Amino acid sequence: MGADDPEGYALDRIVGMLLESGLDVRTSVDTDGLTDPASTMHLDADVVILDWRLPGAADAVSAIREVDHDVGIFLIAEPSSLGGIPVDTLSMVNEYVWLMDDSPSFIAGRIDASARRYRRDVLPPMFSALAGFSEDYEYSWHTPGHTAGTAFLKSPAGRLFYDFFGEQLFRSDLSISVGELGSLLDHSGPIGDAERYASDVFGSDLTYFVTNGTSTSNRVVHMSVTPPGGVELVDRNCHKSIEHALTMSHAVPVYMMPTRNGYGIMGPIPPAEMSEETVRDRIMDCPLLGGVRHKDRPTIAVVTNSTYDGVCYDAGAVEDILGEVTDCVHFDEAWYAYARFNPLYAGRYAMRDPGSTGEDRPTVFATQSTHKLLAALSQASMIHVRQGRHHVEPSLFNETYMMHASTSPQYAIIASMDVSSKMMDTGGRALTQESIDEAVRFRQTMARIRADSEGWWFRVWQPEHLDVPEIGEGVRFEDVPHERLVSDPSCWTMHPGDAWHGFGDIPDGWAMLDPIKVTVLTPGMDDGGNYTDFGIPAAIVVAFLDQRGIVNEKSGDYNILFLFSMGVTKGKWGTLVSEFFEFRRLFEEGAVLDDVLPDLVARYPERYSGMTLPHLAREMHEQIRRTRQTQVANRAFGMLPAQAMTPARAYSELIRGNVEQVKLDDIDDRVVATGVVPYPPGVPMLMPGERTGKRGGPTLTYLRALQEFDRRFPGFEHDSHGVEFRDGHYWIHCVRG
Ligand SMILES: *Cc1c(COP(=O)(O)O)cnc(C)c1O
Repeated sequence: MGADDPEGYALDRIVGMLLESGLDVRTSVDTDGLTDPASTMHLDADVVILDWRLPGAADAVSAIREVDHDVGIFLIAEPSSLGGIPVDTLSMVNEYVWLMDDSPSFIAGRIDASARRYRRDVLPPMFSALAGFSEDYEYSWHTPGHTAGTAFLKSPAGRLFYDFFGEQLFRSDLSISVGELGSLLDHSGPIGDAERYASDVFGSDLTYFVTNGTSTSNRVVHMSVTPPGGVELVDRNCHKSIEHALTMSHAVPVYMMPTRNGYGIMGPIPPAEMSEETVRDRIMDCPLLGGVRHKDRPTIAVVTNSTYDGVCYDAGAVEDILGEVTDCVHFDEAWYAYARFNPLYAGRYAMRDPGSTGEDRPTVFATQSTHKLLAALSQASMIHVRQGRHHVEPSLFNETYMMHASTSPQYAIIASMDVSSKMMDTGGRALTQESIDEAVRFRQTMARIRADSEGWWFRVWQPEHLDVPEIGEGVRFEDVPHERLVSDPSCWTMHPGDAWHGFGDIPDGWAMLDPIKVTVLTPGMDDGGNYTDFGIPAAIVVAFLDQRGIVNEKSGDYNILFLFSMGVTKGKWGTLVSEFFEFRRLFEEGAVLDDVLPDLVARYPERYSGMTLPHLAREMHEQIRRTRQTQVANRAFGMLPAQAMTPARAYSELIRGNVEQVKLDDIDDRVVATGVVPYPPGVPMLMPGERTGKRGGPTLTYLRALQEFDRRFPGFEHDSHGVEFRDGHYWIHCVRG
């Protein structure tokens, strides 16, 4: 329609009135850029008015609705065309504009009201109250003592600090003396509302905000259920904070052992490790329980879901099995808060169906680092509870909660969790889909390059062939339609005996690989975990990428992990692919390290200057091959060390000073006072109070291999918790006597 026909004229008048009332109006003559959620995500509109007669209008309505279920959508149509609009579209539209029937001022009024309502409601409860409060410009006589930042202005460093972060940060940095915002410790007021809102969004019965990371959330959960001397069933692939929780609650841990593949990537815990029989045996055999207390039931079982490498479980099946041995199941979902928002993860996360609450089910806890893969400030974390046999009584649970909370929580962190909930509520599906889409594009591109390459190329840890219903069996990964890979979980589930995952005969569907956690494999190993003649240890590629400003999440001997988080921008991975090409080119040319890794050469010129990239790769590969580092690690991580004392007892020896630092070469069957956690894979090899085993045993052999590696390759040292590398030796704290 044009400005000279009656409809165009009416529309112009409406736009004019909207502008007059202070709204900003953007117009377009087509639906380009509105028909897929990835672009509507950036629409930034308070209300959308769409002409039904435009091609793509129906797609635009659903794309807009997918990223935002609150924004008002007005459809311009003729009353007679209403019957032709699909029911799906009808259900997503808020109002209709009959240009020829209603007056322009009436229509403009409706649109204006909708935009204002949206503006008012778009903010989640706590952030809304905080934003309102910091606009009020009160005089404050309470902490924090910088009083809206003014204290900083009294010194030059303070002024620079103030300018760097800007006024708003300081105006909104409040203390619990500000009653209007409620209290995190009592879960009251707007802060309590925000927790209840998050509980709705994340599907729990109860949700708690924690401003000191999932490290603290884990400690709260475990301390709330385990009395001193209680038994806990623990995933050996657990985060350090679980060790701390065990220490603080004086628990006696027994462990479930996850699988590992030839690359040293940790896999799922097999169901047999969770079974009543195994758990009973572990408890019977536990020297710390004296062998006779076999009636002890674990107070809680904790499983890391997903693992760092993206292995996620059939959570219902895990609950069923663990529910036989314990009343509380804890899923540590630090890396996995998004799972609920995309059907690809159906059934694979803790807070699945609030309706399944019941006396016959175990109580389920999930702890999530909101800051890790959603959009929130560092340290933002949530505890979610689904009630079951162990009833979580809020007033009692809160005693543990407060023990770990500060009485001065950071309000910006709390507000960021509130906003994160809102984002996932309105656009969770589209946001997660974008990460998945990008990760799959990267994965297929890498596979395609590999298929087309004459020489070597990086592999990605994923199935190489898939059976695709309409296409056939054994379709190459790169040829599987993108649409299927991003939406069909069966492309990612691990089938028993598949060579690519290497976790053996795990039951079909027990575990799935999360596509957004992408492990790139460097040459050097085959699927069976045997070294190949040609190898490029991951450490070298990591150092190269680092030099180019690309920082990965973590790496192993021949694998590097990249996360496709929600912050990923379209095509960001293109740069990564380019750098891989560049690495290969430099490698093939035999470039010298002085050019490729200048920072490393500057630090250790006599070691590396003049050496070529292939030379370093060969030397390092030979080193790993000779000590069989990866296989020895698999043996060390594949057995449970003997327990001499609980983590709590080891800790008490430590603070009593009854410990000594011992050179690794001198250690023979000692009890460690601190956990020993080599990176990679960041999983405890020894928990505090466990025995190292004999000098020739797998644990000490592995640590000696790492020590030898670190001596030979300065600048590539492993970063192992609980181990100090000093004067060319590993030193470990052991209990005296
Ligand atoms: C990072 C992590 C934690 C701790 O989370 P923070 O938010 O960093 O304190 C706990 N568990 C797992 C599995 C993690 O990876």
